[in-house]
Amino acid sequence: MMLIYKGYTYTHMTHNTRWYCSKKAGGCRARLKTTSEGQLVQVLESEHNHPPPNLYRAASGKIIKVMQVKNIGPMTNAERQKKYRQKLKENNPEKYNEKRIAHLEKVKENKRKISELTDNEKEQRRRKWRQYSAKYYEKQKK
Ligand SMILES: [Zn+2]
Repeated sequence: MMLIYKGYTYTHMTHNTRWYCSKKAGGCRARLKTTSEGQLVQVLESEHNHPPPNLYRAASGKIIKVMQVKNIGPMTNAERQKKYRQKLKENNPEKYNEKRIAHLEKVKENKRKISELTDNEKEQRRRKWRQYSAKYYEKQKK
């Protein structure tokens, strides 16, 4: 019989309510007490002298790999966007394609030569540029 608690594996000796860390032989003193049904009663010693194992042998004799949950730091905006796009590509390829095409068209739009723009578009661009430079000069003054 084996017990897993917080990623650590425990085995019991004679008493089936006293669990010892599987690495007891390596000097680890971590111990738990449970009811005979396996409900945790008390953590007698929570300190381990080793990281949690990622492989253990189940009662059936099969070796099972235990995945440890890693703490992931906060994502940057670019990472979040990339993750979002990947998820969208998997879950909704149609929408993903739509977005991709929209993005490509936007890039194309920005690459268009001034001479290809209509007067209206030219004026819009000028206005944007003026706003942008006004902001820039304001920043310079400070
Ligand atoms: Zn241990």
